[in-house]
Amino acid sequence: MELIKPQSNVLKVDPLDERKKIALVVPAFNESKNLRQFFREANKTTNNLGSYSWEFIFVNDGSSDNTWELIEDLAGADPRVKGVSLSRNFGKEISLTAGLEATTDADAVIFIDADLQHPPSLIVELVAQWECGYQIVATQREAIQYSLVREAGSRFFYYMLKHFSDLKIHAKATDFRLLDKEVLNILKTFEERTRFFRGLIDWMGFRKTIVTFSAPDRAQGKSTFSLSDLTRMAVNSFTTFSLLPLRITGWLGLTVVSLSLAVLFFMVITQFFFSQVFTPLAYFVVFNTLLFGVVLAALGLIALYIGHIHTEVIRRPLYIVQDKVGFNEDE
Ligand code: UDP
Ligand code: MG
Repeated sequence: MELIKPQSNVLKVDPLDERKKIALVVPAFNESKNLRQFFREANKTTNNLGSYSWEFIFVNDGSSDNTWELIEDLAGADPRVKGVSLSRNFGKEISLTAGLEATTDADAVIFIDADLQHPPSLIVELVAQWECGYQIVATQREAIQYSLVREAGSRFFYYMLKHFSDLKIHAKATDFRLLDKEVLNILKTFEERTRFFRGLIDWMGFRKTIVTFSAPDRAQGKSTFSLSDLTRMAVNSFTTFSLLPLRITGWLGLTVVSLSLAVLFFMVITQFFFSQVFTPLAYFVVFNTLLFGVVLAALGLIALYIGHIHTEVIRRPLYIVQDKVGFNEDE
Protein backbone atom coordinates (compact mmCIF):
# COMPACT_ATOMS: atom_id res chain seq x y z
CA MET A 1 0.00 0.00 0.00
CA GLU A 2 1.32 3.39 -0.80
CA LEU A 3 1.27 6.09 1.77
CA ILE A 4 -0.14 9.33 0.62
CA LYS A 5 2.27 12.00 1.77
CA PRO A 6 0.54 15.06 3.14
CA GLN A 7 1.24 18.35 1.48
CA SER A 8 2.87 20.73 3.90
CA ASN A 9 -0.34 21.51 5.67
CA VAL A 10 0.75 23.71 8.54
CA LEU A 11 -2.40 23.34 10.54
CA LYS A 12 -2.25 19.60 10.94
CA VAL A 13 0.40 17.45 12.58
CA ASP A 14 0.49 14.15 10.75
CA PRO A 15 2.00 11.11 12.47
CA LEU A 16 3.01 9.71 9.10
CA ASP A 17 4.98 12.80 8.29
CA GLU A 18 8.35 11.68 7.01
CA ARG A 19 10.02 15.03 6.98
CA LYS A 20 12.85 15.66 9.41
CA LYS A 21 11.55 17.27 12.52
CA ILE A 22 13.13 20.36 14.03
CA ALA A 23 11.99 21.69 17.39
CA LEU A 24 12.43 25.32 18.39
CA VAL A 25 12.88 25.66 22.13
CA VAL A 26 11.92 29.15 23.27
CA PRO A 27 12.36 30.17 26.93
CA ALA A 28 10.05 33.00 27.86
CA PHE A 29 10.06 35.00 31.05
CA ASN A 30 7.66 37.96 30.95
CA GLU A 31 7.77 38.09 27.17
CA SER A 32 4.10 38.87 26.46
CA LYS A 33 5.14 41.93 24.46
CA ASN A 34 7.43 39.93 22.19
CA LEU A 35 5.81 36.53 21.88
CA ARG A 36 3.39 37.16 19.04
CA GLN A 37 5.90 39.07 17.01
CA PHE A 38 8.44 36.32 17.64
CA PHE A 39 6.01 33.66 16.52
CA ARG A 40 5.12 35.62 13.39
CA GLU A 41 8.74 36.04 12.41
CA ALA A 42 9.74 32.50 13.26
CA ASN A 43 6.76 31.26 11.30
CA LYS A 44 7.83 33.20 8.25
CA THR A 45 11.16 31.43 8.33
CA THR A 46 9.82 27.97 9.05
CA ASN A 47 7.22 28.28 6.30
CA ASN A 48 10.04 28.86 3.87
CA LEU A 49 11.64 25.66 5.12
CA GLY A 50 8.64 23.50 4.33
CA SER A 51 10.69 20.40 3.72
CA TYR A 52 11.03 20.02 7.49
CA SER A 53 8.32 19.53 10.02
CA TRP A 54 8.48 22.10 12.80
CA GLU A 55 7.61 22.12 16.45
CA PHE A 56 7.58 25.14 18.74
CA ILE A 57 8.17 24.48 22.41
CA PHE A 58 7.60 27.53 24.54
CA VAL A 59 8.71 27.35 28.14
CA ASN A 60 6.98 29.81 30.42
CA ASP A 61 9.56 30.38 33.13
CA GLY A 62 7.22 31.56 35.87
CA SER A 63 6.24 34.80 34.15
CA SER A 64 4.16 37.26 36.10
CA ASP A 65 2.51 38.71 33.01
CA ASN A 66 0.19 36.90 30.59
CA THR A 67 2.94 35.05 28.73
CA TRP A 68 1.35 31.69 29.53
CA GLU A 69 -2.10 32.72 28.29
CA LEU A 70 -0.47 33.82 25.06
CA ILE A 71 1.29 30.48 24.72
CA GLU A 72 -2.00 28.67 25.32
CA ASP A 73 -3.61 30.80 22.60
CA LEU A 74 -0.83 30.01 20.17
CA ALA A 75 -1.05 26.30 21.01
CA GLY A 76 -4.81 26.36 20.53
CA ALA A 77 -4.46 27.89 17.09
CA ASP A 78 -1.55 25.83 15.82
CA PRO A 79 -0.89 22.16 16.66
CA ARG A 80 2.82 22.57 16.11
CA VAL A 81 2.97 24.76 19.19
CA LYS A 82 3.49 23.21 22.59
CA GLY A 83 3.91 24.91 25.90
CA VAL A 84 5.43 24.00 29.22
CA SER A 85 4.79 26.20 32.21
CA LEU A 86 7.15 26.05 35.15
CA SER A 87 5.76 26.63 38.60
CA ARG A 88 8.04 29.59 39.26
CA ASN A 89 10.97 31.40 37.72
CA PHE A 90 13.82 28.90 37.52
CA GLY A 91 16.14 30.90 35.29
CA LYS A 92 17.01 30.60 31.66
CA GLU A 93 19.39 27.65 31.88
CA ILE A 94 16.77 25.55 33.59
CA SER A 95 13.97 26.62 31.25
CA LEU A 96 16.15 25.54 28.34
CA THR A 97 16.52 22.16 30.02
CA ALA A 98 12.77 21.89 30.54
CA GLY A 99 12.19 22.71 26.89
CA LEU A 100 14.81 20.24 25.77
CA GLU A 101 13.24 17.47 27.80
CA ALA A 102 9.81 18.26 26.39
CA THR A 103 10.96 17.55 22.85
CA THR A 104 10.11 14.16 21.42
CA ASP A 105 11.69 12.47 18.44
CA ALA A 106 13.08 15.70 17.04
CA ASP A 107 15.96 15.32 14.60
CA ALA A 108 17.36 18.63 15.76
CA VAL A 109 16.60 21.29 18.31
CA ILE A 110 17.20 25.01 18.02
CA PHE A 111 17.41 27.13 21.16
CA ILE A 112 16.21 30.64 20.48
CA ASP A 113 15.31 33.65 22.67
CA ALA A 114 11.81 35.07 22.53
CA ASP A 115 12.92 38.69 22.51
CA LEU A 116 14.01 38.63 18.85
CA GLN A 117 17.63 39.21 19.78
CA HIS A 118 18.27 35.93 18.05
CA PRO A 119 16.99 36.70 14.55
CA PRO A 120 14.68 33.86 13.45
CA SER A 121 15.79 34.41 9.85
CA LEU A 122 19.17 32.96 10.81
CA ILE A 123 17.48 29.58 11.28
CA VAL A 124 17.86 29.05 7.54
CA GLU A 125 21.61 29.28 7.90
CA LEU A 126 21.70 27.02 10.97
CA VAL A 127 19.72 24.35 9.17
CA ALA A 128 21.92 24.66 6.09
CA GLN A 129 25.03 24.05 8.20
CA TRP A 130 23.33 21.11 9.89
CA GLU A 131 22.63 19.61 6.49
CA CYS A 132 26.34 19.98 5.75
CA GLY A 133 26.93 17.48 8.53
CA TYR A 134 27.64 19.66 11.55
CA GLN A 135 26.08 18.33 14.73
CA ILE A 136 26.35 21.57 16.65
CA VAL A 137 25.76 24.85 14.90
CA ALA A 138 26.55 27.62 17.35
CA THR A 139 26.17 31.32 16.79
CA GLN A 140 28.27 34.23 17.77
CA ARG A 141 27.38 37.88 18.13
CA GLU A 142 29.09 40.41 15.99
CA ALA A 143 27.83 43.76 17.16
CA ILE A 144 26.45 44.18 20.61
CA GLN A 145 24.71 46.99 22.39
CA TYR A 146 25.33 46.17 26.02
CA SER A 147 26.63 48.64 28.55
CA LEU A 148 30.34 49.19 28.98
CA VAL A 149 30.44 47.36 32.32
CA ARG A 150 28.68 44.33 30.86
CA GLU A 151 30.86 44.31 27.81
CA ALA A 152 34.02 44.52 29.92
CA GLY A 153 32.70 41.87 32.32
CA SER A 154 31.86 39.50 29.52
CA ARG A 155 35.28 39.97 27.96
CA PHE A 156 37.02 39.33 31.25
CA PHE A 157 34.90 36.22 31.85
CA TYR A 158 35.67 34.67 28.48
CA TYR A 159 39.33 35.61 28.78
CA MET A 160 39.57 33.85 32.13
CA LEU A 161 37.67 30.80 30.91
CA LYS A 162 39.84 30.58 27.85
CA HIS A 163 43.13 30.85 29.65
CA PHE A 164 42.50 29.16 32.94
CA SER A 165 39.94 26.40 32.52
CA ASP A 166 39.71 23.11 30.67
CA LEU A 167 36.94 24.55 28.63
CA LYS A 168 37.59 26.11 25.26
CA ILE A 169 34.62 28.37 24.85
CA HIS A 170 34.07 31.01 22.20
CA ALA A 171 33.72 34.59 23.31
CA LYS A 172 30.46 36.22 22.22
CA ALA A 173 28.91 32.80 21.85
CA THR A 174 25.18 32.82 22.43
CA ASP A 175 22.57 30.27 23.41
CA PHE A 176 21.11 30.52 19.93
CA ARG A 177 22.20 27.20 18.51
CA LEU A 178 21.17 24.08 16.70
CA LEU A 179 21.88 20.65 18.14
CA ASP A 180 21.62 17.38 16.30
CA LYS A 181 19.66 14.45 17.74
CA GLU A 182 22.83 12.65 18.72
CA VAL A 183 24.05 15.60 20.80
CA LEU A 184 20.60 16.03 22.33
CA ASN A 185 20.34 12.51 23.53
CA ILE A 186 23.60 12.86 25.36
CA LEU A 187 22.76 16.29 26.71
CA LYS A 188 19.54 14.86 28.14
CA THR A 189 21.55 12.42 30.24
CA PHE A 190 23.51 15.18 31.99
CA GLU A 191 22.44 15.43 35.56
CA GLU A 192 24.43 18.27 36.96
CA ARG A 193 22.45 20.99 38.55
CA THR A 194 24.53 24.10 38.27
CA ARG A 195 24.16 24.49 34.58
CA PHE A 196 25.75 26.61 32.00
CA PHE A 197 24.45 25.36 28.69
CA ARG A 198 26.95 26.96 26.39
CA GLY A 199 29.78 25.57 28.46
CA LEU A 200 28.29 22.07 28.59
CA ILE A 201 27.72 22.00 24.87
CA ASP A 202 31.20 23.24 24.03
CA TRP A 203 32.62 20.69 26.43
CA MET A 204 30.90 17.86 24.55
CA GLY A 205 32.87 18.22 21.35
CA PHE A 206 31.20 16.75 18.21
CA ARG A 207 31.39 18.29 14.76
CA LYS A 208 30.81 21.93 15.35
CA THR A 209 30.64 25.16 13.41
CA ILE A 210 29.86 28.78 14.20
CA VAL A 211 27.61 31.24 12.40
CA THR A 212 28.02 34.95 13.09
CA PHE A 213 25.15 37.43 13.38
CA SER A 214 24.69 40.91 14.76
CA ALA A 215 22.52 41.08 17.83
CA PRO A 216 19.78 43.68 17.59
CA ASP A 217 18.34 45.39 20.64
CA ARG A 218 15.71 43.55 22.60
CA ALA A 219 12.34 44.02 20.82
CA GLN A 220 10.33 44.94 23.94
CA GLY A 221 10.97 45.09 27.64
CA LYS A 222 14.29 44.93 29.45
CA SER A 223 16.89 42.24 29.73
CA THR A 224 15.92 40.20 32.74
CA PHE A 225 19.48 39.48 33.76
CA SER A 226 20.85 41.93 36.24
CA LEU A 227 24.55 42.52 36.58
CA SER A 228 24.59 40.47 39.77
CA ASP A 229 22.82 37.57 37.99
CA LEU A 230 25.47 37.67 35.31
CA THR A 231 28.26 37.81 37.86
CA ARG A 232 26.83 34.87 39.72
CA MET A 233 26.49 32.93 36.51
CA ALA A 234 30.06 33.74 35.60
CA VAL A 235 31.38 32.60 38.98
CA ASN A 236 29.26 29.45 38.88
CA SER A 237 30.25 28.43 35.42
CA PHE A 238 33.83 29.11 36.32
CA THR A 239 33.85 26.96 39.40
CA THR A 240 31.99 24.13 37.67
CA PHE A 241 34.45 24.04 34.83
CA SER A 242 37.74 25.10 36.30
CA LEU A 243 39.91 24.37 39.25
CA LEU A 244 41.58 27.74 38.96
CA PRO A 245 40.27 29.10 42.26
CA LEU A 246 41.70 26.12 44.09
CA ARG A 247 44.94 26.55 42.26
CA ILE A 248 45.05 30.22 43.18
CA THR A 249 44.63 29.22 46.80
CA GLY A 250 47.58 26.93 46.39
CA TRP A 251 49.67 29.70 44.92
CA LEU A 252 48.51 32.11 47.60
CA GLY A 253 49.54 29.56 50.20
CA LEU A 254 52.97 29.16 48.65
CA THR A 255 53.46 32.90 48.38
CA VAL A 256 52.54 33.44 51.99
CA VAL A 257 54.77 30.62 53.12
CA SER A 258 57.76 31.97 51.20
CA LEU A 259 57.08 35.49 52.42
CA SER A 260 56.90 34.40 56.00
CA LEU A 261 60.07 32.37 55.56
CA ALA A 262 61.81 35.42 54.09
CA VAL A 263 60.73 37.60 56.99
CA LEU A 264 61.80 34.94 59.42
CA PHE A 265 65.13 34.56 57.69
CA PHE A 266 65.60 38.32 57.80
CA MET A 267 64.80 38.34 61.52
CA VAL A 268 67.21 35.51 62.27
CA ILE A 269 70.05 37.06 60.24
CA THR A 270 69.68 40.52 61.72
CA GLN A 271 69.43 39.04 65.19
CA PHE A 272 72.63 37.01 64.70
CA PHE A 273 74.82 39.41 62.81
CA PHE A 274 73.52 42.82 63.76
CA SER A 275 72.34 42.01 67.25
CA GLN A 276 68.94 43.40 66.52
CA VAL A 277 66.70 41.81 69.07
CA PHE A 278 63.22 40.54 68.20
CA THR A 279 60.98 39.33 70.95
CA PRO A 280 59.52 35.82 70.73
CA LEU A 281 56.20 37.56 70.41
CA ALA A 282 57.35 39.21 67.15
CA TYR A 283 58.20 35.79 65.72
CA PHE A 284 54.91 34.45 66.86
CA VAL A 285 52.97 37.29 65.31
CA VAL A 286 54.70 36.97 61.94
CA PHE A 287 53.96 33.28 61.85
CA ASN A 288 50.49 33.43 63.08
CA THR A 289 49.14 36.24 60.94
CA LEU A 290 50.35 34.72 57.75
CA LEU A 291 49.18 31.22 58.51
CA PHE A 292 45.84 32.55 59.54
CA GLY A 293 45.45 34.29 56.19
CA VAL A 294 46.21 31.10 54.32
CA VAL A 295 43.74 29.07 56.29
CA LEU A 296 40.96 31.58 55.83
CA ALA A 297 41.48 31.94 52.08
CA ALA A 298 41.52 28.19 51.64
CA LEU A 299 38.39 27.74 53.68
CA GLY A 300 36.50 30.35 51.70
CA LEU A 301 37.27 28.63 48.45
CA ILE A 302 36.63 25.14 49.63
CA ALA A 303 33.22 26.39 50.65
CA LEU A 304 32.48 27.23 47.02
CA TYR A 305 33.21 23.70 45.95
CA ILE A 306 31.32 22.16 48.78
CA GLY A 307 28.42 24.32 47.66
CA HIS A 308 28.45 22.65 44.27
CA ILE A 309 28.77 19.16 45.70
CA HIS A 310 25.90 19.99 47.99
CA THR A 311 23.52 20.99 45.20
CA GLU A 312 24.56 17.96 43.15
CA VAL A 313 23.88 15.45 45.89
CA ILE A 314 20.48 16.70 46.99
CA ARG A 315 19.01 15.40 43.70
CA ARG A 316 16.04 17.64 43.85
CA PRO A 317 14.17 17.83 40.53
CA LEU A 318 15.60 20.56 38.37
CA TYR A 319 12.25 22.20 37.78
CA ILE A 320 8.56 21.67 38.33
CA VAL A 321 6.08 21.70 35.47
CA GLN A 322 2.79 23.22 36.48
CA ASP A 323 0.96 23.14 33.21
CA LYS A 324 1.30 21.84 29.69
CA VAL A 325 -0.45 22.59 26.47
CA GLY A 326 -0.39 21.03 23.01
CA PHE A 327 1.07 17.68 24.07
CA ASN A 328 -0.56 14.30 23.60
CA GLU A 329 -1.73 12.44 26.69
CA ASP A 330 1.27 10.14 26.80
CA GLU A 331 3.94 12.79 26.29
N1 UDP B 1 14.56 33.99 30.26
C1 UDP B 1 14.00 32.92 30.97
N2 UDP B 1 14.12 32.91 32.33
C2 UDP B 1 14.76 33.90 33.02
C3 UDP B 1 15.35 34.95 32.27
C4 UDP B 1 15.22 34.97 30.90
O1 UDP B 1 13.42 32.00 30.40
O2 UDP B 1 14.82 33.83 34.24
C5 UDP B 1 14.44 34.02 28.77
C6 UDP B 1 13.87 35.33 28.22
O3 UDP B 1 12.48 35.30 28.16
C7 UDP B 1 14.49 35.39 26.83
C8 UDP B 1 15.85 34.71 27.04
O4 UDP B 1 15.72 33.91 28.22
O5 UDP B 1 13.75 34.64 25.88
C9 UDP B 1 16.98 35.70 27.18
O6 UDP B 1 16.71 36.58 28.23
P1 UDP B 1 17.16 38.10 28.20
O7 UDP B 1 16.79 38.74 26.91
O8 UDP B 1 16.61 38.72 29.43
O9 UDP B 1 18.73 37.96 28.34
P2 UDP B 1 19.89 38.63 27.45
O10 UDP B 1 19.38 38.76 26.05
O11 UDP B 1 20.19 39.91 28.10
O12 UDP B 1 21.01 37.64 27.55
MG1 MG C 1 17.69 39.25 25.27
